[in-house]
Amino acid sequence: MGKTVARVARGKARTDRPPGTDRPSRAEAENAIRTLIRWAGDNPDRQGLQGTPARVARAYEEWFSGYAEEPRDFLSRTFDEVAGYDEMVVLRDISFESHCEHHLAPIIGRAHIGYLPRHRVVGISKLARLVDVYARRMQIQEKMTAEIASCLDSVLRPFGVAIVIEAEHQCMTTRGVHKTGVTMVTSRMLGVFRKRVETREEFLSAIHLRGAVQP
Ligand SMILES: [Zn+2]
Repeated sequence: MGKTVARVARGKARTDRPPGTDRPSRAEAENAIRTLIRWAGDNPDRQGLQGTPARVARAYEEWFSGYAEEPRDFLSRTFDEVAGYDEMVVLRDISFESHCEHHLAPIIGRAHIGYLPRHRVVGISKLARLVDVYARRMQIQEKMTAEIASCLDSVLRPFGVAIVIEAEHQCMTTRGVHKTGVTMVTSRMLGVFRKRVETREEFLSAIHLRGAVQP
């Protein structure tokens, strides 16, 4: 984690930054935060707020460190020795924090990943990192779900991939309609998980969501 932040801070290894996003200096970023503090109605020069622009800039480096990482790189290390294992692999309840691209408000949730390997598997920690890379960008949940699925599908080339994400959106709980306890569920089913009802049901029951998600 610390390594990732340091890489962002140096502005290197940017692999997935959208076009047209020249990086401003840290001073410019901190000034923008001072402006937002003034916009909110407070004085950025009062004692309690003096270090805030620098802290917020550092927090941004952590929250948005996913722009500096290319998930295909660390997924490329796979294991071929699976001793004939040909059942699905499921990793459930991968917690993540992301930010909605509409309000920059936190999205707090859990991702569940399933795939049916074709000869090779990937280390489970890599699956968790895959979620983090996409979560640590400005997101909408639907896009994040699809990105994780298609990345896994294109690197591992399994018989199928299933992703379900459940999350609470703080732009909905702390502002706007102010509805707490609402969870958004998104899913992406590829290959056999899309084609075969039994395979999909097996995955959904493994993550305790049977019957709740349509393909
Ligand atoms: Zn939002």
